[in-house]
Amino acid sequence: MINNNIPPRIIRGSIAIKNGDDNSWIGVFKKDKSYPLVFGEELWNLLQENWKTLQSWGKELLEYSSWEDYLSKGFCKYCGKFVVGEPCKIKVDLIEKVNNGMLAPDLNAVAHSHLLPMANLFSKNEEKDGLWIEWVYVISPETYTLEIFKSVRKKGTKKIKMPGKLWEQPKYMYFQIGIFSLFQTEPDWEFIENKGSYISSYYHNKYPLKQGTLM
Ligand SMILES: [Zn+2]
Repeated sequence: MINNNIPPRIIRGSIAIKNGDDNSWIGVFKKDKSYPLVFGEELWNLLQENWKTLQSWGKELLEYSSWEDYLSKGFCKYCGKFVVGEPCKIKVDLIEKVNNGMLAPDLNAVAHSHLLPMANLFSKNEEKDGLWIEWVYVISPETYTLEIFKSVRKKGTKKIKMPGKLWEQPKYMYFQIGIFSLFQTEPDWEFIENKGSYISSYYHNKYPLKQGTLM
């Protein structure tokens, strides 16, 4: 049973490749639906398909600006260009045109723009990481493991600038939920989800914060 104490949000994630022996990683951003119950099996299947060439698979992944961008092999269906970054800020009528079968109707990127790879995660240091990454999936091409982290609140707040305003946000840290060998049976995603949710809830209550703008 999923713990529902945490208010529902867009569940952001990162799919990352481990850097050698130091405990750091670089990842690509996944903008939503990153929780294990939905995403775990998809990622696991991809890793099973690619384990023989995991090193080059990891390198290729990091060439893209986001997970969505990787899945579409860098193709933007709105302007028809490759490796320009994941499309974002897409106007509704443009989405409708593409859904109705029009091919690249916005050649000059007037009604959409592209995500820069600035949301990548570089380390375990949450000070440097993008905000509100909920789940991090760290793949090691050297040990053939998948390590899963959940972000949880920690003591203290930090001020961050979002368009026009200064916000106070809780600091967070990454909590390791589990490490799994790619050669063993598929992890129990529901168990991982529940464990992450439980631990998240615990730290959420331990470090309560009223969020709001400061300016
Ligand atoms: Zn585009």
